[in-house]
Order: sequence, then structure tokens, then C-alpha cells
Amino acid sequence: MQSPWDYPDFDDHEVVHFVTDANTGLKAIIAVHSTHLGPGAGGTRLWHYPNRGDAIRDVLRLSRGMSYKNAMAGLALGGGKAVILADEARTKSDEMFAAFGRSVEGLCGKYVTAEDVGVTVPDLVEVSRHTRYVSGLPVEAGAVGGDPGPHTSYGVFLGIKAAVRSKLGKGSVAGLHIAIQGAGSVASGVARRAAEEGARISLADIDGARAQKLADEVGGVVVPVNEIMTLEADVLSPNALGAILTAESIAALRVPIVAGGANNQLATPAEGDLIHQRGILYAPDYVINAGGIINVASEYLKDADEAGVKARIEQIPGRLETIWAESDTTGRNPAAVADAMARRLIGRG
Ligand code: NAD
Repeated sequence: MQSPWDYPDFDDHEVVHFVTDANTGLKAIIAVHSTHLGPGAGGTRLWHYPNRGDAIRDVLRLSRGMSYKNAMAGLALGGGKAVILADEARTKSDEMFAAFGRSVEGLCGKYVTAEDVGVTVPDLVEVSRHTRYVSGLPVEAGAVGGDPGPHTSYGVFLGIKAAVRSKLGKGSVAGLHIAIQGAGSVASGVARRAAEEGARISLADIDGARAQKLADEVGGVVVPVNEIMTLEADVLSPNALGAILTAESIAALRVPIVAGGANNQLATPAEGDLIHQRGILYAPDYVINAGGIINVASEYLKDADEAGVKARIEQIPGRLETIWAESDTTGRNPAAVADAMARRLIGRG
């Protein structure tokens, strides 16, 4: 039996906490990668993992990604993440989230949770009845907080525009074809903003009805799930799940730009080189998708109002440009450049 220490994704994580609550059926893993810059912050993902090893791998990768993301967003936060191992129907209950909240509280602030795939604001409200270490809660109009999805979408959209400027020399996405993987919270915000600026949208989601609804709203078209990554377009924006950029999928890409909000898009660091060698401009995921955590952090740390959050998100394009410039001068791929910058910031450079 492989221990968490032996997983290739284990990177001296400070805490890996396994949670079982027999009364509610809760099975979860909380991983804190680094608290060098502050409490380990990152959302909770509720997902059906065919085997438990997949869940361990996911939480190790995602929590390290949060350390990098928070550091690169200039936040006083470390990196952490939680996964809830759901059944195939992804059944959830208030009692399950109450038990999860108690386990977060038990870590005494080393980990601060928020939303991720499968976890909604009402779920977090239940969590917040049992722990203070939670963000992404409903707030009164005008206050900072709430669902991070729209903020992530805003940052991803600005990142797409920066990539379009840098790679295609265009100041707008008007008339460009954007292929979007996913039709959830992040994808829908990206699709709406891009369509509003005049882009043509193609999208795919394993939830066909969700995909159709979004396509109808933005005047786009739905394409089969297995075709979205090989579509000829100006931008591929992955906004569903991770590890979608493999040697095989990269070889089949027909876009000059990959820029989207999904976490951990590269299956392994080696794919960062492959996509670079193909001359495709890649926006490192945890840099372009930091809008949500910027909002969550500002709510939790209470150090910015709505205008301040917007201004912080608007720094994402500049960060991407710094990474692409260093990539140009050193020849290293943008993902490797971003990782090295992030590791220096968390004291592991
Ligand atoms: P969501 O649950 O709202 O949407 C995800 C969508 O992806 C769902 O509609 C799902 O059906 C679809 N999907 C799953 N597998 C797919 C596949 N193989 N092909 C096509 N579609 C598929 O989640 P979200 O909040 O929009 O998050 C999307 C991604 O962005 C995730 O990787 C998440 O970790 C990342 N992310 C989200 C935020 C945020 O603020 N919500 C912040 C940073 C990163």
C-alpha cells in the first residue's frame, strides 16, 4: 500500500489530514502544502473518485497549486485544499458539511476553506456553523465575498485578452473563435464576457443540457465533449477539470493560445515543454485563475473593498506578461517560469 509520502505529487506538504465521519458518511482529505506566507487557503472539491489514490493525488496537486497561486497573486496566504470523496451520484447533506466544518475547525486555522467543484455557497454556510476558517460566504450587497466564480471568470477573461494581445497582436477578442471546455461557473462567466465583446463561442460540457443553455445564452454552439480540444480556434479555454493537457492532446491542438481557469491543466510538468515547443502560448493556470482566491482572500483577510478586489484581479494580465517575457528571454516554458517564481516566493526556491 502506497503511503501519501510516496506519491510523486507529495512535495513536503505540511499536513495531510484524513477525515472519516461514520454518522454522515463523510470521507475527506485536507492537505496543507505550505503556510510560509499565511494560513493554507483553498477550496473544497466534492467529487466521485473511482479509487482513493486518485483523491490523494488530486488533493496533493491542488494544494501545492494553491501555494503557488496565492503566492503569485501577492496574497498573505499559504496553500491548502480539501477533497470530499463522494459516491457516484455525488450525494451531499448538511450533516456531511457540518462534520466537514468540525474537521476544518480541528486544524485551528492552518487551513481555510472555500468553494470548488461540487461545493456551493449554501454548503459553505453549513460549514461556517462549525468553523471560523471558511470564506466564500454570502455577503450583503456591496461587501466583498460570496461566490468566487464570477471573479475567477473576470481574471480568466482578462488573461485571454492579454494572450490575444501578446500572441495575435489584437486588442480585443471581437471576431475571434473561442473554444470553451466546460459550461459551469467559471466557463459561463468567460463565455458571457467574450461573447459580449464579439467573440464566437464553441463549448462542450458532459452535462449536455447545461452546455446548450449557455450556448443559447451567448449565441454559441455546442460541440461534442471529445471534439472541443481539437477544434480549430483562436483560443482554447479549459474551464472544467485538470490534467487535460497530455502529450497526445497537445499534439492534436489546433489553437495558438491555451488560456483557461481549470486547475492543474498540465498532466505533468513535461507537458509545459511540449506545448511551448508547439509554439502555443500557454497561460499558467494558477496565475490566470487567481481572481476567485483574490476575492476569497480579501473577504477573509478583510483588507480590500470591491474596487480593491477588482484592481487586484486586473493585475493578472501584467503577471502573465512578466512570465511570458521571462519565457521569451530564457527559452523556458511559461509554466516552468511561473513555478520557479512561485517557489521562490514560498521559500522553497
Ligand atoms: P463547475 O462545477 O461550476 O463547472 C465545471 C463544469 O465542468 C461542469 O459543468 C461539469 O459538468 C463540466 N465537466 C466536467 N468534466 C468535463 C469534461 N470532461 N468535459 C467537459 N466538461 C466537463 O466548476 P467551476 O467552479 O466552473 O470550476 C471549473 C474549473 O475551474 C475547475 O478546474 C476549478 O478547480 C477551476 N477553478 C474554479 C474557481 C472558481 O472560482 N470557481 C477558481 C479557480 C479555479
